[in-house]
Amino acid sequence: MYAEVLVELKIKNIDNTFTYLIPPNLVNDVELGKRVLVPFGHQKVEGFVLRIDEIRELDYKAKKIIEVIDDKPVLNKELLELGKYISKKTLCNLISAYQTMLPTALKAKHKVKINKKYETYIKLNRNIDISVNGSKQKKILEYLEDKELVLKKELTKISASSVKSLIDKNILIEEKYEKYRLDNNYHKEDSDIILNEEQTIAFNKIKNNLNQFKPFLLYGVTGSGKTEVYMHAIKEVIKQGKEVIVLVPEISLTPQMVNLFRKRFGSIVAILHSGLSNGEKYDEWRKIEEKKVSIVIGARSAIFAPLTNIGMIIVDEEQTDSYKQENHPRYHAIDVAIHRAKYYNCPIVLGSATPSIESFTRAKLGVYELLTLKKRVNDNMPIVKLIDYKDMMRTKDKIISTELKEKIQDRLDINEQIIILLNRRGYNTVISCKECGYVHKCPRCDIPLTYHKKTNSMKCHYCDYVTSKLNKCPKCNSTNINSYGIGTEKLESIIKEMYPSARVARMDVDTTRNKGSHERILKSFRNHEYDILIGTQMIAKGLDFEDVTLVGVLNGDASLNIPDFRSSERTFQLLNQVSGRAGRGSKKGEVIIQSFNVEHYSIVLATKHDYDTFYKKELALRKKLKYPPYINLLLIRLSGKNYDTLNDEGYKIVNFLNSKLKNKNVIILGPSSANQAKINNIYYINIILKYKNTKNIIDYVKYINDKYKSNRKINVEVDINPIHM
Ligand code: ADP
Ligand code: ZN
Ligand code: ZN
Repeated sequence: MYAEVLVELKIKNIDNTFTYLIPPNLVNDVELGKRVLVPFGHQKVEGFVLRIDEIRELDYKAKKIIEVIDDKPVLNKELLELGKYISKKTLCNLISAYQTMLPTALKAKHKVKINKKYETYIKLNRNIDISVNGSKQKKILEYLEDKELVLKKELTKISASSVKSLIDKNILIEEKYEKYRLDNNYHKEDSDIILNEEQTIAFNKIKNNLNQFKPFLLYGVTGSGKTEVYMHAIKEVIKQGKEVIVLVPEISLTPQMVNLFRKRFGSIVAILHSGLSNGEKYDEWRKIEEKKVSIVIGARSAIFAPLTNIGMIIVDEEQTDSYKQENHPRYHAIDVAIHRAKYYNCPIVLGSATPSIESFTRAKLGVYELLTLKKRVNDNMPIVKLIDYKDMMRTKDKIISTELKEKIQDRLDINEQIIILLNRRGYNTVISCKECGYVHKCPRCDIPLTYHKKTNSMKCHYCDYVTSKLNKCPKCNSTNINSYGIGTEKLESIIKEMYPSARVARMDVDTTRNKGSHERILKSFRNHEYDILIGTQMIAKGLDFEDVTLVGVLNGDASLNIPDFRSSERTFQLLNQVSGRAGRGSKKGEVIIQSFNVEHYSIVLATKHDYDTFYKKELALRKKLKYPPYINLLLIRLSGKNYDTLNDEGYKIVNFLNSKLKNKNVIILGPSSANQAKINNIYYINIILKYKNTKNIIDYVKYINDKYKSNRKINVEVDINPIHM
C-alpha cells in the first residue's frame, strides 16, 4: 500500500506530495487526513495523508512512513476539500491552506507538542468484599459510598497515603479522563425576551429556510436586537440536532457576547479566538470534534471548526476587515462560510448595522435576502452632534470642546457613563524641532515615531523600533523640541486632570497586552468601577453597556486621511459603530464628534445614522472611479530590500501583463509605492489590476506568483479582492 503525503518544505515554497510506502504494521492506522511522520532527505517531517493506493508503479523505491501521528484524521473529507478551494481561490499552496485551518497543536509541524490534560478520578470497587481498619480509610470509603466517581484530589485531601494503600488493595480503582483547559460548566438561564415585530419577521424568514443553502443579510441599526435574532434562530437549529458557527470580529474584545451565549445555551458552546493559549485552542477544537458542543463562537479562524453537521453559520458585523486574513493565505471568512453553508445546505446570516458596500449591493441584487431591523429595541437612536475643530481653535478648549466638556460633567453628576474614542495610541504622536522642522522618524519605516510616556520612549507602531526621546535636534542641535499630536495615553491624563474625581480606564493595545485584560477592563467598566472609558477603535464595536449615555469622538475624520478607496466607508462605519454605544438602555444617548472635516458625506451622514443615503453616494463614486462592487481588484505586492531592483521587476511584471492582457478589458496600474512604502527596511510596491472577469487574468497572475516563489531578493504576493491597498 502507498500513501501520498503532503509536506511543507521550507526551502521550496511549493506544494509537493510524495509517495511513501505504508509498512504492514501501519496499514490499519494510515487514513486520509491524518498526519504522518516521514523521512525527507536527511530529516523527518510531518505531512498530511491525501491519498491511499493499493498499488503504485514507481521507478524508484519509495521510502516508508515512520509513524502515524493521529488516532483520528485531523482533516475530514469536507475540510480536505475546503483546503483545495482556499488554495485555488487565494493562489496559496495547499499545505498553507491546511496549516491555516488547523490549530497549532494539529498543524503538520515537527516539534510542536501540545499535550492533552488528564484528571484522575477514583471509584469504589464494588465487586469485592471490603474490610478496612484505619479511621482515615473508613472515612474515605464513607465519602465514596453514595458516589459514582470522585476526583482523586478530593480524596487525597483526607489522606494521600490511605488512598494509595486502598488502591494497592484494589478496593479503589483509578480512572483517567481527559480534562479541558476551559471549563464548560455554564448554567442556562431562561430568557424572557420576546422578539418584537421586526425581529419576528426576520427570525421567521430564517426559520422557514433552515434546510437549504440561503444567504441572508440582516441589516439592523445598532441596538436593534440582531444578536437576539441570531440566538432565536440558533435555538431552532439546535432543536434539529444540528450545529452552528457564530463568527464575531474578535471575541477577546467582546466577552459579553460569549457570556450571553453561555447563559442562553449553557455548556454546548465552544470558544475560539486569538486570546486563547495553544493548549486552550486545542482543547476547544477537541470538544468540537468529540461532539461535546454544538455551537462554536469565534473569530475568523473559527470558520474552520471541525463540525460535521452544520445547520447555520452566522457572521456578525460582517463588514469587519479582520474577516479577511491579512497574510498568506488571504482568505475571506465570508467566502469560506458560504462555501461551507453550500456544502451543508444551510442558511448563512450576515449581520451588520453598516453592511459593506459589496454586501449591500448583493442584497439589492437579490444574491442575499435582505432582512431589515429599522428601529432600536428601545426605539431611541442617540442624538449626534458634530463639532468643528476650526471653531474650537477660537476658544480656550482646543482638545476637548466646551460642549463635550460640559456634557461629560453632566453625566458624571448623575452617575452615568462615558466612552471617548481617539483612534491613536501613545502620548504625543509627533516630536519635532521647533527651529528647523526636523521630525523624529523611524529609521526603518520613515514615519513619525510616537512618544510613550509610561516607558519614556519613542516607538514605531509599524515595526516595534524603540529609541529614547530627543533632547537635542540631530540636524541643527537646537534644544527647542516640540511635542504635539495626542494619543490615548495623553488623553487619559488630560481627562484625569480635568475631572479629578472621575475614575478613568483606558483600553488600547498598550493596556491590553496581558491575557484577559480586555475582559477585566470591560467588566470593571460594566460594574461601574469606572466612569469614563477611553480607547482606540477597540472600544467601538459591539459593546452593550446600559448606562453609557454619552460618547465623545476626537479626530473623527482621522481615518479619512488614509489614501484608500474604502476610507469613506471605514469612517462612516467607525462613527456609526461608536455612536451606537450610547443610549442602548432605557436612557437617552448623546454623541459628540469632533472633526476637522465637517462637510464630508461620510461624517455628515454618520451623524444622521443615514446608511441608505451613504450607500447611494458611495456607490455612485465607486462607479465613477471604477472600484468594487463595479469592478474587481487584484493587488500584486512586491517587497524587498532594494528599491531599485523592486521597481525594475515591477515594470517587467507590468509589461508582461500588458502584453498578455491587451484588449482584455483589464486596467493595470503601477508599479507604485504602497501606502506604507517602507516597513522595517523593506520596501513595498503595488501593481493593481482592475477587471470585470477573472477568466482572462488569473492564469497570468498565477504564472507570476509561481515564477517568483524561488526568488530570494523579491517577494511577490498576490491579494485577490484586497481589503487594504
Ligand atoms: P444589536 O446586536 O443589533 O446591536 P442587541 O442584540 O445587542 O442589538 O440588542 C440590544 C439590547 O436590546 C440588548 O441589551 C438586548 O438584550 C435587548 N433586546 C434585544 N431584543 C429585545 C427584545 N425583543 N425585547 C427586549 N429587549 C431586547
Ligand atoms: Zn532642528
Ligand atoms: Zn518602524
